[in-house]
Amino acid sequence: MLRDSFGRVATDLRVSLTDKCNLRCTYCMPPEGLDWLPNAQLLTAEEIVRLVTIGVERLGITEVRYTGGEPLLRRELVDIVGRTTALTPRPQVSLTTNGIGLARLAEPLAAAGLDRVNVSLDTLDPATFKRLAHRDRHADVIAGLAAADGAGLRPVKVNAVLMRGVNDHEAAPLLRWCIDQGYELRFIEQMPLDAQHGWSREGMVTADEILRLLSGSFDLTPDDLEERGSAPAERFLVDGGPARVGVIGSVTRPFCGACDRVRLTADGQVRNCLFATEESDLKTPMRAGASDEELAERWLAAVSRKRAGHGIDDPSFLQPSRPMSAIGG
Ligand code: SAM
Repeated sequence: MLRDSFGRVATDLRVSLTDKCNLRCTYCMPPEGLDWLPNAQLLTAEEIVRLVTIGVERLGITEVRYTGGEPLLRRELVDIVGRTTALTPRPQVSLTTNGIGLARLAEPLAAAGLDRVNVSLDTLDPATFKRLAHRDRHADVIAGLAAADGAGLRPVKVNAVLMRGVNDHEAAPLLRWCIDQGYELRFIEQMPLDAQHGWSREGMVTADEILRLLSGSFDLTPDDLEERGSAPAERFLVDGGPARVGVIGSVTRPFCGACDRVRLTADGQVRNCLFATEESDLKTPMRAGASDEELAERWLAAVSRKRAGHGIDDPSFLQPSRPMSAIGG
């Protein structure tokens, strides 16, 4: 098992399939985009499936989430998902996506065994979407969400990041809309992971603020606090339920003590934390002929070095050199 020195066991693997994205969300990257990884540095579909298989068969991974960048941009996605769901023991397989292209891909992904999706949507207003993501693709995201629901990729979860003065007035309307559509909304605090290093504590809309913004329109009661386990979202029943909303206070309400995640970047680096400043290279030894056992050993060693917490509140905190899009959110 992927056990760290504090006794936490990583069972949830986040795999970035590409660092490229077709949006430019301001909390993630600059409008002009980034220097994407050269293709030769990206893991091939074969290499991805090999590492995921090692994770599942040898290291106790029970959940695999494909992300990016934008995972729907990866041509082999349906094949990778199908080969992942064919593993024994069968892991839960999900996708975090901006939803652009999901209208076309939801059915083939469901047929490949994908269990569910998280779709990012920060606003109900196409003009605000364009301002925030620098692309006029709001309608594509809405269509992608509907297609995911239609293909049975449920529960369809929606991820929203609120930005002060941009979309923070939309907290309650977003929740109302998601409830009406049957989607489960989760607000994520903005984290210092943008390529431009523009994050500031003052600019961040905190979990407390999000709950205050919602409580003007909804009656929220804590749900399953006992059962939260390693789930990052604190969940609340809305107006007595059954609808729920989640708030992920990664910065102000960190959940590192219960973290069960480990990440694999699109260029084959194991990261034991979103905020890790060190990575462990699996791609180079794999391409040099390492056996599955040797790769598993390296992976175990990488996880054993996981720090107690992300340390954002520590004066010595250093933002990782890779932005969110290159780590895999
Ligand atoms: N492109 C996909 C998407 O949009 O969901 C997957 C990758 S994206 C990096 C994954 C999630 O990270 C999205 O929900 C996005 O809103 C969130 N995200 C990106 N940068 C963030 C930041 N600085 N703080 C908090 N969440 C962030």
